[in-house]
Order: sequence, then C-alpha cells, then structure tokens
Amino acid sequence: MNTKIIKVDPIKPDRMSVAEAAKIIQMGGIVAFPTETVYGLGADAFNEAATNKIFEAKGRPIDNPLIVHLSGADHLKLVSTINQEIINVARKVWPGPVTLILPRAQGLPGTVTAGLKTVAVRVPAHPVALALIELSGTPIAAPSANLAGKPSPTTAKHVIDDLQDRVDVVLDAGETFFGVESTIVNITVNPPVLLRPGALGIEELEPIIGEITVPKEAHGYSESGVAIAPGMKYRHYAPAKRVVLTGGRDIYLEILKKSINFGKPAAICSEEMKPAVDNLGIRNIIIGSESDLYTVARGLFPSLRMLDEIDADFGVAQPFNENGIGLAIMNRLRKASGHIVINSPEELPRALDRLC
Ligand code: AMP
Ligand code: MG
Repeated sequence: MNTKIIKVDPIKPDRMSVAEAAKIIQMGGIVAFPTETVYGLGADAFNEAATNKIFEAKGRPIDNPLIVHLSGADHLKLVSTINQEIINVARKVWPGPVTLILPRAQGLPGTVTAGLKTVAVRVPAHPVALALIELSGTPIAAPSANLAGKPSPTTAKHVIDDLQDRVDVVLDAGETFFGVESTIVNITVNPPVLLRPGALGIEELEPIIGEITVPKEAHGYSESGVAIAPGMKYRHYAPAKRVVLTGGRDIYLEILKKSINFGKPAAICSEEMKPAVDNLGIRNIIIGSESDLYTVARGLFPSLRMLDEIDADFGVAQPFNENGIGLAIMNRLRKASGHIVINSPEELPRALDRLC
C-alpha cells in the first residue's frame, strides 16, 4: 500500500484535505491523525475489518483494546450505555486528554473492546482530530500510531518511520500538543480508578470528578506483573537500545560517570542537568526543563526515539518529579527501562544485563 501524506494546519485545518482522509475512513481504510496527546491510528469503530487493519499495521496483540474517539459527548450513546452521571463527567472532561472507561453499547465489534464489557472513549481537543471524526460521520477507534512496543509518535515523521506503507493516509499537522497519551480513568467503579496516568494530572482531575484511586501500578511499577488495564502488561514505550533509569536525581551523575565503563552511554536528562553532564564529556539528549514538566512530556518520546538514532550503546535517564503530568512521564520512563530503577553505580552491570 502507498501511504499518502497530507499536510494540514493544526489549528485551522483545510476541510477539503481532512475530507480526503475522512473518505478513507468511510471506505474502511486506516488513517494516522494528530490529537492533542500523540498521533493516533484510526479506523471506523463500527467496521470490524477496518479495525483489524490497525492491529495488523501495528503488530498489536488482539487482547489490547482501542480507544473510541468521538467528535462530541452528544455521540456517547452510540458506543456506551449512558446515565446522567456519565454524561456529567463526560461534559466536564471533554474535549480533552482524558479517556473514560464506560459500559459498552451493543454493536461495537469485539476487536475494539478486546471482548470486554467496557469501552474506552474520549473526545480529543485537537482541531484536526475533531474535523476528521466529524467528516467521517462515525466514531473512530484508534490506539497510538506507532509499532507496538515503540515510543508513541508525537510527529508525523515518527508515524512514517514506523508505519510507512502500512497505513493509507497520514494527516501531518506537526507536533502534538502534550506529547504523552491521555489519562485513562475507569468510572464504572466507585470511586473511579486511574488505569493510566496521562496528560491531565490527577490533581487537576480530582477537583472535577471527585476522588480517584491511584493503584501502585499507575506509577509504572510492576513487581506483581499484573496489568491493571488490558494491554498494560506488554513492553511499552521502549526504544531498541537499553534505557537505565536512576532512582534519585542526586545519584544520577555518579551513576552516569560510572556508566562509561560499560559502553557508550547517552544521558537522557534535563536542561538543568546538561552543564554537569557536559563536564563529564558524555553525550546528552535533552528532554526538557525540570521547571516546566510540560516541556519534558513533549520531549520524552522524541528523546527515546533519538537514542536509537545516535552513536550510543544505551541511555541513562534521570528521574523527574511525579506531580501533575510528571506521573505520566515517570510511568513511561519506568516502562521504557523495563521497570529496572537503579540506585547505585554497583547496580549498573546487572541492570544492563537484564535489559539485553
Ligand atoms: P493506546 O492509545 O495505544 O495507548 O491504547 C489504548 C489503551 O487504552 C490500551 O492500551 C488499553 O490499556 C486502554 N483501554 C482500551 N479499552 C479499555 C478498556 N475497556 N478497559 C481498560 N483499558 C482500556
Ligand atoms: Mg499505544
């Protein structure tokens, strides 16, 4: 298949250009499109054959369900059974980077929900995504538009690097706004449970929808190996090269210094850390500034992809504060590093061996 790349303005997208992509959705094709979080790979949520193409293109395990994207909360009843409480929550959080787990409506193909009784739904806050869903005239089921297991795509180039010739159309609207995926909350239980930390922090969400349970796994720890959401058990967000995550900011430089004994490291670090890393003569990939975690969120997946492109054997990442969007950042870093967090230089060889 020949992938067609269509450039569109992120804020005022040309309707004709988006309509071309919408036509592909209507005909059962798959389209990569920008959302405010990351790029999604979409198909008509009610076309089982089309949704199957998403799994094939990504190499995604079939037990990992998709998120259904709507152009407005008014369409909720197409995909979910609803009540006043659900509508109230939906109206408060949408459009925005919050995915709600809801009871699913009849008629959605099993591919979308991985056979579960629930469905993940959101209304994205991105003009291109909204125009695409509207013009397609159907809800669009979409996971992130990367190869399964790889860091999520925040630019059209990332999508093309992973999925060239596996998708019909890529709508290229430049960089996404947040750079990490949506926050997933299960509101079929009381109190609601956080299934995946994302672009909207719990501190911002709780005042809107009330108390939320945050399981330990939401931080990205997984000693139990038990997934709190389907699909979460799989290796995620990982570049091909190994990433070592250090436990404390204070021991980062000490560990980094020792890491040169085990190959060629690249420091995955903040702007604030850069001068000290330069002093060690170690190559660095700057994620963002510790004084603004939104810059770190935007730099996170591009930094992990960058590691694979440069002359380095492995990455050594510093930890970030877990407030707000920081919880999503640390969740992704823990997963990218295979959940191995090291607290001293002595742990380096074991961590690097285990990550092979
Ligand atoms: P992605 O957008 O690529 O991050 O994939 C969507 C994610 O949504 C999946 O990995 C699931 O963990 C989550 N998800 C989708 N449907 C459900 C559901 N019914 N219950 C819980 N989590 C879900
Ligand atoms: Mg994904």
